[in-house]
This record gives sequence, structure tokens and C-alpha cells, in this order.
Amino acid sequence: MLLKKPELVILNKDLAKDLNLDFTRTHEDELSSLFTGNKLPEGSDSIAQAYAGHQFGHFTMLGDGRAILIGEHLTKDNRRYDIQFKGSGRTSFSRNGDGRAALGPMLREYIISEAMHNLKIPTTRSLAVAKTGEKIMRDTLLHGAVLTRVAQSHIRVGTFQYLAASKKNDELKTLLDYVIKRHYPDIENSKNKPLDLLETLINKQIDLVVNWMRVGFIHGVMNTDNMAISGETIDYGPCAFMDTYDPKTVFSSIDQMGRYAYCNQPVITRWNLSRFAECLIPLININQDKAINQATEIINTFEKKYEEKWLNMMRGKLGLFNENDKDKSLILDLLTWMHQKKLDYTNTFCHLMNDEIKKDIKFEDENFQNWKIRWKERLRENSDNYQNYKKLMKTFNPIVIPRNHKVEEVLSEANQNNFEPLERLLEILKKPYHNQSDILDYQIPSSSNEKYQTFCGT
Ligand code: AMP
Ligand code: MG
Repeated sequence: MLLKKPELVILNKDLAKDLNLDFTRTHEDELSSLFTGNKLPEGSDSIAQAYAGHQFGHFTMLGDGRAILIGEHLTKDNRRYDIQFKGSGRTSFSRNGDGRAALGPMLREYIISEAMHNLKIPTTRSLAVAKTGEKIMRDTLLHGAVLTRVAQSHIRVGTFQYLAASKKNDELKTLLDYVIKRHYPDIENSKNKPLDLLETLINKQIDLVVNWMRVGFIHGVMNTDNMAISGETIDYGPCAFMDTYDPKTVFSSIDQMGRYAYCNQPVITRWNLSRFAECLIPLININQDKAINQATEIINTFEKKYEEKWLNMMRGKLGLFNENDKDKSLILDLLTWMHQKKLDYTNTFCHLMNDEIKKDIKFEDENFQNWKIRWKERLRENSDNYQNYKKLMKTFNPIVIPRNHKVEEVLSEANQNNFEPLERLLEILKKPYHNQSDILDYQIPSSSNEKYQTFCGT
């Protein structure tokens, strides 16, 4: 059924340009129709994808309950993307849901996914948000909206789980070949493709989670259906950025046990990858025991690889070139001190780069001063690169992140039809590693002591 009053709220012109999509001569009404699904692009053949997933550890058959893939898009330089609507109505996988989404959460995904992209972290992106002109029922009546999401693909660990659970080995093999062809052509001719795909995904997911840890991002719902095979961050639901450094930080209202807390993200990544490995067993070797041994051996490389990549990332945050045996304790001592003194994660690294956001007497603490002496000594070991340490730090440490209270502020204004604060926030988040004037308000954490809470599937 056609929507009577669709209304485009935001169009990502930079992304459209990058995709070689020219909307400059398209009338606003037509854009509103296009980005709510009232009028699908020519040739579009939309599908809802099936998948399964471990949600908080429990296996369930799922699928696109409120999303549809409207097609694939090829850029001039042959990059292939899925274009998907989220919140466009019921599908055969909707179960008891209405298939709809509210304006606030769709704009939230737009803000945070674009922030992640600008932070140089692999992610799905947001091309547009449009209001459907209809109200949807949640705790109260809310504006309905559709997000247009762009992804390298929407194939998830859960897509493999769907076929593995149904014991459809031929189809599993077809999916494996398809994924390799689409995402990892380098391993197309390898001797054992499933094993090589497993190893590739381990590397990709470690890179991703190390990046999340770098900027203090907490995904919030790392179910296996929310882990993309492409290695992109996907499904922005209850995610948020940590302010005060606390490894146990959790924002999601339903994550009572802290399964997806900041510090658990690497452990859960490994757990999800083990579920992925299980799906591949019948394809790895006809001898099941052998297959399990081979997969286990690869999964067991996770800890060492993660530790190395995490250490290197933290070295970058501190401007340390080369490696030194004492680096780990130097890093851990800083984190412990930050935790004890309840320091802001982002702004502590800004302080170390001499980009102090706001004077804070906590930095006069004697333990911190002593730590700084050790850090400076270590910086001198950078030898030739000594002068470059700050340059290195500036590529690892954002100066501005989407602060939770700021995100809420702009969403509240957007719900009342004022989109200016949203535009301003998006503009600032385009350059998270650059000094910008007049952005102090966007850099300081909220002064409220109230715990920030986020919600799933709203
Ligand atoms: P998510 O928490 O967004 O990853 O969603 C988990 C599952 O619930 C997915 O299969 C979604 O498609 C489905 N889902 C979430 N919200 C809705 C809704 N409003 N209507 C139908 N299905 C939904
Ligand atoms: Mg999901």
C-alpha cells in the first residue's frame, strides 16, 4: 500500500556521490517516494533475506523482519553494494513485529554509522532517512521512518547458521563460494576454501573489534546475526560510545549480565567466530574429527592475534613506534589509572596530545605525573621517529565522538521537526581527527550523573 505523505528528512550527498548516484535533478517529492519504497528504482527486485543467529547465546531462526534488500548497486569503479530499506514494512520474517521503525532510531543509526565511517572504521553506511508520514506504536505513538542502508553485503554469520541448521550442505557450499567470490576473491583458488575463509574472517573481525576498542565504541548486541561476513560494523541498535573509562560499561537496557560490555567484545567476537567455524565443518573435511581439529587450530590463533593487534593499536594511541617489552605494562597502568580516577576515555588521549579539552585537576595527580615520566622516556626510544609521535597519535585518537547526550539532544529536536542541530552534529563528526573551532560543547561528556541507556529494535 502506498504511503500518503512520505517525506525525505536527510540525504547523504557525499555518499551518493561516492556511489555515482546523481540525485541533483530529482525532485524532493520523488526522493521522498524513492526513499520510503513508494516508488522502487527501475529493475529493483526486492527480497527479505533469511538468516539465523545466536541472540544472547540462544539459537533462533530469524530473517529480515523489518528490512528488505531493494537491489545491488555497482559503482563506476566496480564496487558492489547492497541497498537495503530498514523499517519499510512487514515481510515473511516479521513474526509478531510491525516491520516498521521509528524516526529517532533510524536517525541514530545514520549519525553513528556515518561517525564510524569518518573514524575510519569499516561499517555499513546510511544513504537517507525519510519519514513515512505514518505513526507507529511503541511505548507511545512515534513518527515512522525508513533508513536506506548501504553495505558491502548483508551476509552474516547467521546466514551460514541458517543453512547449517537446516543441514543444507550443498547450499552452504554455494553460499561459501558466493561469499568468497564477492568479498574475498584472493582465496578463490586456495586448497581449502572454508578454512581460509575462517582465517580471513578472524583477521577481519579482530581488526574491527580493535578499532571499536580504540574509539570506545560498544556495539551492544553482538549476536551472530549482527556480525557481517564483510567485516563491516552492522546493525546499530543499542550501541553507544563510552565516556568515562570503565571496561565493564554496558548501555543496552536488555544486557543485564553485561555479555556485550566494552571489555567482553573481543571474547564475544571469538565466540561468534567459533559458531561460524561450526557451520563450516562439513565443508572443511569429510572426516568430521579432522575438520574439527583443523578449525579449532585456527580459532585458537585468535587470542595471540588479538593481543598483538590490540597492543599495536594502543601503541598508536600513545605515539609509540617500534616495540618494547615494557609497552604492555605502560599501557595497562594508564588504563588502570583512568579507571580508578573515572577519566573520560577520549579526552585523556586528547590531553596527552596536548589538545586539552577542558582543564581537569585529575591530570595533576601524582601517579599520573609519574606515569607520564615513564611514557616520555619510552617516547625517546622512538629514535628517528621521535618528532612524529604526535602525528601518529592524531591518526589513532579522535578529538570528537558522538557524545550520547548530544545524540539524544539532536534526535529530540529532529522529532519536533528541527533538523539543524542534526546537520551541525553530522558536520562536526565528518572530521573527528581534526581540530575544529567552537566544538567544545560536543567534546565534553554529559554533566548528568544519570546512567545512559539504549534500546534494541525500536
Ligand atoms: P535486531 O535487534 O535489529 O538485530 O533485530 C533482531 C530480529 O528482529 C531481526 O530478525 C529483525 O528483523 C527483527 N525485528 C526487529 N524489529 C522488528 C519489527 N519492528 N518488526 C519485525 N521484525 C523486527
Ligand atoms: Mg540485526
